[in-house]
Amino acid sequence: MSDCLFCRIVAGEVPATVVHETPTTLAFRDIGPQAPTHVLVIPREHHDDVGALSDADPGLLASVMSAAVAVARQEQLSGGYRLLANTGDDAGQTVHHAHVHVMGGHRLAGLG
Ligand code: 5GP
Ligand code: ZN
Repeated sequence: MSDCLFCRIVAGEVPATVVHETPTTLAFRDIGPQAPTHVLVIPREHHDDVGALSDADPGLLASVMSAAVAVARQEQLSGGYRLLANTGDDAGQTVHHAHVHVMGGHRLAGLG
């Protein structure tokens, strides 16, 4: 989808600081970090959100989650980390290409 920001990052049309790659996933630093380490992990293929991705290709969703864990280890988040996937309007999803946030590097605020 040429009008999708993250598809444009996959295509190399929009610059990003890439920290991890697999044949099916890409991980890059969030432009507005909410934690000392804040990386986004995406499937290279476009899916609107993780629900759509789960329906279309659950194996690819598993690959995204495994890549997120690999990023957390690579970033040495030994004190812990959060994997988060905002899905739909009520969650405040702003980019409609499935993605998982990897956040850590300090004590994260509780979700409640
Ligand atoms: P969402 O709110 O959809 O869960 O997360 C979208 C994330 O994408 C936000 O945390 C936002 O900071 C990040 N973001 C938006 N535009 C860009 C961009 O052009 N480059 C990068 N690296 N991150 C972006
Ligand atoms: Zn896309």
